Amino acid sequence: MKQGIVVRGYAGFYYVQEEDKIWECSLRGKFRYLKQNVLVGDRVKIRPVEEEKKKAVIEEVLPRFNELLRPPIANVDQAVIVMAFKNPDPSLYLLDRLLVLAEASSIEPAIVFNKIDLVDEETASSILEVYRQAGYAAVSTSAVSGAGIDALRELLKGKVSVFAGPSGVGKSSLLNALQPGLSLQTGEVSSKIGRGRHTTRRVELLVLQSGGWVADTPGFSVIDLPSMSRQDLAYYFREFREELGRCRFTSCLHRGEQGCAVTEAVKAGRISSSRYWHYREFLEEVIKNEQRY
Ligand code: GDP
Ligand code: ZN
Repeated sequence: MKQGIVVRGYAGFYYVQEEDKIWECSLRGKFRYLKQNVLVGDRVKIRPVEEEKKKAVIEEVLPRFNELLRPPIANVDQAVIVMAFKNPDPSLYLLDRLLVLAEASSIEPAIVFNKIDLVDEETASSILEVYRQAGYAAVSTSAVSGAGIDALRELLKGKVSVFAGPSGVGKSSLLNALQPGLSLQTGEVSSKIGRGRHTTRRVELLVLQSGGWVADTPGFSVIDLPSMSRQDLAYYFREFREELGRCRFTSCLHRGEQGCAVTEAVKAGRISSSRYWHYREFLEEVIKNEQRY
């Protein structure tokens, strides 16, 4: 038997990549009987039935380590949050929210700032530095000039990634730049045609020539904070974690309490004040939501 990854499902068939081959697979009868769902991203064992036609049967679905709902993908290694340096201006509020979401779902986040061709070096590196200092992988790119695309390929290598971020930042353009010949519709084209944006379609994993898989549909469009207790939030701000044991009170919520190590770290410049104030905003929201239960 061979082992591969499901990259596409269509009309009752699953397309499984195994090394440099794509097999058209049907499900072994027992799965249909057990109503086991097979998702894009699933690692499966397949038994070839027609070698030349690349037809096979899925004999076994290996255990998943996670499962994303939107888009439905199994075994997601990382969420690549894309923002633009300009056009639209970056929303660090939204970025920090998406980071909390990824952290709370135990999906490793990575950050891409696109459209570096529209800003100067200094502006770009000061924003990048905030997130690198917080402990995230962060790269800057331009889908137009090609700057940073190799670094992005490196970031995606060997992993299953889902892009996230507001519309217009260049997610489809980046996928096209990663994989010339892909020609996904970008904002300009689809708004002219006036369709494509809201048609629901199946998610597919693009197999990158440079290694790795990227979902062709962005995820994390829901921006409600996940339900959590007020004490949890600070753990989802990665750079806060190492300070947390050092606050004077174990119940500290890092809102300027006596002996708060987090606020000390903000004063000392180890934690960025923009991240800190977003924490304060989100905390109020979490507390408000707690009262609903
Ligand atoms: P999406 O909604 O995130 O998928 O964004 P699109 O890929 O559709 O891009 C939105 C717009 O930004 C399009 O007009 C693209 O041509 C443009 N765009 C994408 N990447 C870049 C870039 O790196 N630099 C510049 N200047 N424009 C870009
Ligand atoms: Zn504290």
